[in-house]
Amino acid sequence: MTNKNSTKKRKISFPHMGTISYAWSAALRIIGCEPYVEPYTSKKALSLGTKHAPEAICLPYKLILGNFIEAIEGGTDYVAMITSPGCCRLGEYGKCIANALADLGYEANYLELQLYDGIKGMYNFLKEASGKNAPFLFLRAIFIAILKVFLLDNLETKLSYYRARETKAGDAEKHYKNSLKIIDSYDTILGLKKASKLVNNEMQKVEINPKKEILHVDITGEIYLVNDEFSNQNIEKELGRMGVQVRRSLTVSSFLKDAIIPKIFRKGETHLQRANRLAKPYLMRDIGGDALECVSDVAYANERGIDGIIHISPFTCMPEIMSQNIFPAMREDCDIPILPLIMDEQTGRAGYITRIEAFVDLMRRRKRKKVVENRKSTQKETAQI
Ligand code: SF4
Repeated sequence: MTNKNSTKKRKISFPHMGTISYAWSAALRIIGCEPYVEPYTSKKALSLGTKHAPEAICLPYKLILGNFIEAIEGGTDYVAMITSPGCCRLGEYGKCIANALADLGYEANYLELQLYDGIKGMYNFLKEASGKNAPFLFLRAIFIAILKVFLLDNLETKLSYYRARETKAGDAEKHYKNSLKIIDSYDTILGLKKASKLVNNEMQKVEINPKKEILHVDITGEIYLVNDEFSNQNIEKELGRMGVQVRRSLTVSSFLKDAIIPKIFRKGETHLQRANRLAKPYLMRDIGGDALECVSDVAYANERGIDGIIHISPFTCMPEIMSQNIFPAMREDCDIPILPLIMDEQTGRAGYITRIEAFVDLMRRRKRKKVVENRKSTQKETAQI
C-alpha cells in the first residue's frame, strides 16, 4: 500500500515581485513540487507586513512578510526567500523574516535561495526544496525558469509600447493578460518557442495609433519597486495612459545576466558592466542595493537622448538615498529631467499622480521646444546655402 504522505507534493511559495511567480512556478513544477502562488501583493499583504515588521524597515520587507503570512494561512508547506550578502538590508531579510514568522507561531518550513551563488545556489535550492537528487531535472528547471524570465521581460517591453499607443483604453492590458496565460501553459524549450510566437501574435492584436506623439522614459531605482506594480502604484500604467513608453532599466533578466548566467553564455555588455563604466565619474564603487546601476542609468538615459528618467526608491533605503544625492552633481554633464519618487505605506495616490503628470508635462514642453529649435536651425542653415 502506498503511503499517502510520501506521494504528497510539497507546496512551496515565493514572495511576489512583478511576474516572477510564473518563472519559479515552472521550476517547481518541473522538480515535482507544487507551486503555491499567494494572492498578488495588495493592501491586505501590506497591512499584515506593516503590523509585524519594524517600523523603519524598507517597504519590500513589509510586503514580502505580508506575502508569506498570506501564503502560510492559505496552506503552503514551505516559504522560500532569496538572500544575498552585501552592504544593504537584503542580507538580513532572510533571518528577520524567519524569526518574525516563528514569533507569530507559524509552522511553515523556511527555505533560502542564495542568489549570488549563481547556478550552484539555484541548484542547491532545488535540491533542498524537492528533497531529491536529480541533477538533470534541476538543470532543466533552472534553464526553463531563466527562459521564462526573458520571455516575461520581453512581454513587459511590448506592453509598454502598445499601452502608450493604444486607441482603446485597456486593450493592451487585456492582451497582455492573455499572453501571461500562454507563457504559463508551457514548461518545455519547444513549448516556450511556440509561446514566444503566440505572445507576439496576441500583442499585435492591440489597435494602435502609430502617429501618436510618444514620450520615452526610463525607470530606475530599487529593483523590487521598479518591477512590482503594487509598490510603485502601477506607475507604468499611469505613464502609458499619458502616452509615455517606459523602459525598465532594472529587470530580473538583466540581473540574471550579471548574477546567474555564466560568462560564456552572455552576449554584449551586462547592466553591471555598463554601471561600472558609466557611474565611475560620480560613484567609484558598489555601495549596496542598486545604487551603482541607478547612477549609471541616468548617464545611459542621457547618452541615448531620451525624454526623462524616473527614480523610484523605498523610504529608508540606504543605497538609494545615496544615489538620489548624487543626481544633482550629475546635472552638470547630464541634461535630462529626473523625477525622484520615494515610496512607503503612507504614500498617497493623488499627490503621486500629480507629480507624474507635472513631470510628463515638463518633458512634453521640453521636447516640443527642441523640435521648434531644430526646425529653426535647419531653416537658417538652408538659407545660408
Ligand atoms: S536595496 Fe534598499 S530597499 Fe532593497 S533591501 Fe536594500 S535597503 Fe532595503
